[in-house]
Amino acid sequence: MEPPDIERLDERTVQRIAAGEVVERPASVVKELVENSLDAGASRVAVSVESGGTEGIRVRDDGVGIPADQLEAAVAEHATSKIGDIEDLDRGVATLGFRGEALYTVGAVSRLTVRSRPPDAEAGAEITVAGGDVGEVRPAGCPAGTTVEVDDLFYNTPAREKFLKRTATEFDHVNTVLTGYALANPDVAVSLEHDGRETFATEGNGDLRSAVLAVYGREVAESMIDVDWTPERKEDADGSADDDAPVKRVTGLVSHPETARSTRDYLSTYVNGRYVTASALREATLDAYGGQLAPDRYPFAVLFVEVPAGDVDVNVHPRKLEVRFDEEPAVREAVETAVEEALLDHGLIRSTAPRG
Ligand code: ADP
Ligand code: MG
Repeated sequence: MEPPDIERLDERTVQRIAAGEVVERPASVVKELVENSLDAGASRVAVSVESGGTEGIRVRDDGVGIPADQLEAAVAEHATSKIGDIEDLDRGVATLGFRGEALYTVGAVSRLTVRSRPPDAEAGAEITVAGGDVGEVRPAGCPAGTTVEVDDLFYNTPAREKFLKRTATEFDHVNTVLTGYALANPDVAVSLEHDGRETFATEGNGDLRSAVLAVYGREVAESMIDVDWTPERKEDADGSADDDAPVKRVTGLVSHPETARSTRDYLSTYVNGRYVTASALREATLDAYGGQLAPDRYPFAVLFVEVPAGDVDVNVHPRKLEVRFDEEPAVREAVETAVEEALLDHGLIRSTAPRG
């Protein structure tokens, strides 16, 4: 057989293939848009979705906004206001986004509208992108902040559209993701609406328990106990504190062992304020409960782990929320101890022999 010719893919094809790497389903779009709102310093983020997000997603915030003359850049490839070069990344990024590809990517596989007005601008403006075709910037009346609308996700990528699950399943993913951000940011009023009906709305009053009440309801909120752990400070010979501890602090809330569900979805973990899924953190939390959980039952937990900025790699994969720790065993140990101590304090587990 003759070897086939090797040809460069056209730009549109490359764009759509790349899009699939970042945007897998409506929940991934919600994740990206909400991260943008939080990076923009919003104090309110209102998300509404239709049909689980497959037909429409709208995220409105009251953040810094995007000036009209920046709208084109905002939807362009690899365009970001958040880092300048790779050294910025090595120093540890404070923003949730930094790749400058979310809006570009979403615009490639949907009908995207970004409408914005910085608080001190007199008028707002909007730009639309349909399947990668970028339209003109037009004036638009809008409140201060940014509204991003994503309609007909994957309308031009049928292969991907086919993989979407039932509306209810897609909505569950959206709900889980948004809940994660709402709990991480109790000082931001986060709300979710599905087909016109409110799913939850946090107050944004800065109180984690109040945010838990808003998303999980009263029974769960009332069964939550506080976790607050810091490592014992080792003093050096000269009396100065040892600040190299691999875990600086573990805080948050965990539920009474009897307030458990049959899914792990209610174990939310954060590293340096970033919402992550790290199986090490979940396992450590579960281990702390010892034998107190019924079989196949999982508690509610909202746990914030602080580690030195350079000890965690957040640059693993744009779509995934996974992180890698330099000192995973130490992180695991700290989380387990933190949760164990809280449960012990409340007499919810029995003391075990001190670990060596
Ligand atoms: P990244 O977040 O990685 O920078 P995005 O494609 O998500 O890339 O966004 C591109 C740029 O558009 C951001 O760097 C930011 O300047 C601007 N932007 C996007 N969403 C918002 C928003 N909600 N409020 C203000 N600026 C935004
Ligand atoms: Mg972004």
